[in-house]
Amino acid sequence: MCNINALLLSFLCVCFYQPNFAETAFSVYAKPDTIAIKLKNKETEALVRNLLKECKPGTIPYIIQQTFGSSTEIHLSINDFLQLPDSIMAIAIEGNVNRDKYVSSILVNKEALQFSTDAYLASVFLHEFLHIYLKFTRPNTLFNDHEEMANDHLKLLENSLKVAFPNLSQLEREALSWGGLHATSAWKTLVQKNRKKAVYMFGFCERERVNLLPKENQTLAMAAQ
Ligand SMILES: [Zn+2]
Repeated sequence: MCNINALLLSFLCVCFYQPNFAETAFSVYAKPDTIAIKLKNKETEALVRNLLKECKPGTIPYIIQQTFGSSTEIHLSINDFLQLPDSIMAIAIEGNVNRDKYVSSILVNKEALQFSTDAYLASVFLHEFLHIYLKFTRPNTLFNDHEEMANDHLKLLENSLKVAFPNLSQLEREALSWGGLHATSAWKTLVQKNRKKAVYMFGFCERERVNLLPKENQTLAMAAQ
């Protein structure tokens, strides 16, 4: 959730093969090596796989699966990365052509996310997926992804969280969707218009980012689990 030249504000890596995926409408796209996920934390890796499996129309996993799960010429990888500052949860790296293949990757700060809830982790990956998609659809441009996300894609983020975590309230989904977007003009406008709501949402997001409760005591759980 930062801007570093070719690095684009988010994170994640995947080796994607779901045995049951062949039974879904999208199975035709499930090439084993087009989305490669390899994370040290296997719970997080499973969460990402579940997230990508829940690719219903109108969600970010759906457009990622449609784009990066559809061709052996376009690759997305999701991996741990040890060199990220504590404040950066993940980074999405803009794709480049490598041996005739378009390759994008998401790098994950596993240390910074070690106490995060599943819902927060999902919000981070959705955010990074969106970076990857935006860069893929308009390469080599200087758009400010975060401003665009905050202005145009909050509902897409919220809908994606709703599919994965139906027990989250609308306000909680909105709070998590603002993750990484607190430096945008849209967020500043929200703070000016409704400071009480902004304070609540920011606090909720931070509590989900660092949650020291045992897993069994956390109220949030992925729908698929
Ligand atoms: Zn970002």
